[in-house]
Order: sequence, then structure tokens, then C-alpha cells
Amino acid sequence: MIEGVKRAGLFEWEVPIGFVPGMRVPGRFFLSEDLGQTLEAGAVQQLANVATMPGIVGNSLAMPDIHWGYGFPIGGVAAFDMTEGVISPGGVGFDINCGVRLIASPLTGDDLAGTKRELIEEIFKAVPTGVGARSARTLSNKDLTGMMTDGVGWCVEHGFGLPSDLVHCEEQGRMEHADPDAVSAKARQRGLPQAGTLGAGNHFLEIQIAEEILDAPAAAAMGITEGQICFMIHCGSRGLGHQVCTDHLQILEKATKKYGISLPDRQLACAPVESPEGRSYFGAMACAANYAWANRQMITHEVRNVVAKTFGIADEDLPLVYDVAHNVAKYERHTVDGRERELCVHRKGATRAFGPGASDIPPVYEEIGQPVIIPGSMGTSSYLLRGTATAMERSFGSTCHGAGRVLSRTQAKKDITGKALREQLAKEGILVRAHSDSVLAEEAPGAYKPSNEVVRVVDRVGLSTLVARLEPQGVIKG
Ligand code: 5GP
Ligand code: MN
Ligand code: MN
Repeated sequence: MIEGVKRAGLFEWEVPIGFVPGMRVPGRFFLSEDLGQTLEAGAVQQLANVATMPGIVGNSLAMPDIHWGYGFPIGGVAAFDMTEGVISPGGVGFDINCGVRLIASPLTGDDLAGTKRELIEEIFKAVPTGVGARSARTLSNKDLTGMMTDGVGWCVEHGFGLPSDLVHCEEQGRMEHADPDAVSAKARQRGLPQAGTLGAGNHFLEIQIAEEILDAPAAAAMGITEGQICFMIHCGSRGLGHQVCTDHLQILEKATKKYGISLPDRQLACAPVESPEGRSYFGAMACAANYAWANRQMITHEVRNVVAKTFGIADEDLPLVYDVAHNVAKYERHTVDGRERELCVHRKGATRAFGPGASDIPPVYEEIGQPVIIPGSMGTSSYLLRGTATAMERSFGSTCHGAGRVLSRTQAKKDITGKALREQLAKEGILVRAHSDSVLAEEAPGAYKPSNEVVRVVDRVGLSTLVARLEPQGVIKG
């Protein structure tokens, strides 16, 4: 383990105050010995840096998918007091509300047997992919404003979804306080032609099979049975979110100085949560988050069209299990030291994991806690878990968001070519359809930590518990 880090439990480590000068609270992260082998010292330093920020509450936290990011580590969770604390774009990330959703189906592996290749091809045609992917529809500026303020609500109103989809999204697919005036013309320009597109890199659309049920009652509540085919969609706010982050970083760099905040790293640029700059970033971030939800919803609509047509079933047969955000800041109420407080919770490459009875959970999941969807890689298991009371107590209701990167994109490309990877996966029965083979190599399973080990840690600590293991059958990559 990195020097200066102390063991705090079987899967828990403490970064004590003093690890970097100016820490106000300790850092804590959750990791097994095995995962500790690849832990970057830079990511731990970032976790400690976050602990120096004004108004941080509890601990600066990181999940087992921790790795180096812009300012804050990816896998990081940090909560700030609404009055004394700050909000920081670095604590959210560039791909605002990058997130993942899972769609169930009545199909089994047998139904897929003869049609898999064709199905993937049809979905690939219907969902624009790649870095410069452009929307299949022409949308107006008014539509864009609708997406930014109403998210999934706008989609359902415009025929891109079922009313039940709304309930099965974190925040019901729409964050409050969205302020379109805080979104620049450039951000709008980038977002307008990209609505309903997957993008590239780590974003994917996957056909999966529920290979193993690990918690039968919870799986039943989520409508998941062994051998069932599911569809997982992972993407975010495309150029719009990226531009919102870039624009507001500039504003917040100035605000950091204006409010006399001293930071160990410029990438932690921030402003008091309730300052005009802080509110403006929140309003723009909420727009990007809503746009991301609308984006995943429009992709869902295309997937439903293709799958329903192929198998002669209805959209209603392809219900949304849940949709979770990876990169977002939220005003939430949490109990800290026995007192309920309103906090600004930053999750950056982390998933909300609210437990049974918590707020904003649809009635069907009230007793089991919210579904938590954790992707692995195109060649390894993904998992379905559920939120817990432990997460509410220990991590502001948060858990990991994926396996987490272990190799840089450049390193990953040195290890394997995209073509070789595609052939190797085909031998395992996993069909990959990619916009570009070179992007594929960057996303090789070996570029990520082992997903089974990452979810084992959160399950053991109790930050979320395992419900089902999902295996990839077909993957669409940008
Ligand atoms: P991120 O939100 O950091 O972009 O990615 C979240 C997680 O998605 C990664 O940590 C990785 O575990 C997972 N992931 C990346 N590519 C794929 C893929 O093609 N399929 C699956 N199932 N997971 C992936
Ligand atoms: Mn993303
Ligand atoms: Mn993501």
C-alpha cells in the first residue's frame, strides 16, 4: 500500500489528515489487497487534495474503481455543506451525467441464437456512433431547451418513451434547477446535432444475458430472471456536457480567487455552493444532466423499435429496469452524526446507491433499495446490485460505477490491436460491432480492473449488494 495510507478495515483504507497539507477531514477508500496492486499514488493524492476543500463533510471518499482523474479522482465521492462548502466541476467531470441504464426483455439466449448478428447490425444502423456521430433527427433549439429542462419528460412527451420510463430513472430523468441561460451558445451548438447518439470510447450499447441470479427477491422485483436477455446503454452528455464543464471551469477559476479559496491543485477550481457562480454552474450542469438522460432515452427508443420489430413484441415488453448517473453533483439530505443536513454531494465516476426507504426510489424498489448497474467491460461480467442502508451511513448513499481503468488508452493499444480483440471475443461468442477498430483496442477488457473483484469489495463492505451477474453477448462501440 502507498506510504502514509493506513488500514482501516478488511477492505477499507484511511488517508490521514496531514497526508497533504491543509486537509480538513481524512480520506477513506475501499479496496482489496489485490486491487491495491494497481492503485495509483496520484489518485490517492487527489483524494487527499479534495479533503482540503472548504466545507467538506465527513470524509473525502473513493470507491474501489478509483483512478486518476481531472482534479478529483474517478470513483470519488465528496459532500459539502450548503453554506460553508463549495461546488466544483472537477468533482463532476467533463462528461456530465455519463450514466448507464438497463432494459429488460422477455427474450432468452435461444431467441437470440439465430438472429444475434443481424440484430446487432440493425441496432448499429439505428443508433449513431463514433466521436462525430450526428443525430438521426433534426431538432430545433426549442427541442434542445426542452431536453435540457425536462430530460426524459421531454422525450416521453415527444413519443420517445413510455410513461413508466420516467419513474425508473434516478431523479425521474430530470434534475431541478436547470438553467438554460447558464449554457453557452457554443455548448448548445455542440449538443443540438448530437441528441440520441452514443459517442465513442467507453460508451457502449450491449446485449447481455443474466447468467446468474445472486439475490432472487431483488432480481424478481427488478424483473430479471436467469437466462434472460437485457440491453445495457452507457453514454453521457456528449459535446454539450463537455462544453458546459469547460466554460464553467473558466468562470470558477476566477471565482476561486474572488472568494479567496486556496487549493493545492488548480483543477479543483470551485465556488461556494450558494454563490452566483456556484448556482450558475449547478444550473448549467443540471441542463447537461437532463440532456444526457434525454440522450439515453432517445437511444432506448431506437433499441426498442428494432428489438420489438425483430421479435414481434411491444415496447412495453422492453421495460426500463433503472437508469443511474455517474458524474453529477446533487443537493441531497443526509444524516451526519445524527443530524439531517442538506449537502451538495459530488459523485464522479460513482453511482448513487440509495437504500430501502430512501427518497427518490420508485415504489417497486422501495423495499429492496434502488437498482445499481455496474458495467465491467466488453469481455467480462457486468453486475446488477442494489442500494443499502450501509451506503446511506458510510458513503452518502454511493457505490462504485464500473470496473475502473487500469491501463491508459495508449498503453491498452500497445497490448492488442482492435482487430485481434474482435476476433478473440468472437471465439467466446461475443460479437463486437465498432465504429472504429482503433478505439476498440483502447477499451480491451485488460484495460480495466477485474469487475468481479471491484463488485466483491462494495458487496463485502455493504455499499451495495449483488443481485445478478450479466455476461456480454453483443457489443456496440463508438
Ligand atoms: P466510465 O463511466 O468511467 O466511462 O466507464 C464506466 C465503466 O464502464 C468502466 O469503468 C468499465 O468498467 C465499463 N466499460 C467500459 N467499456 C465497456 C464495455 O464495452 N462493456 C461493458 N459492459 N462495460 C464497459
Ligand atoms: Mn462518459
Ligand atoms: Mn460513465
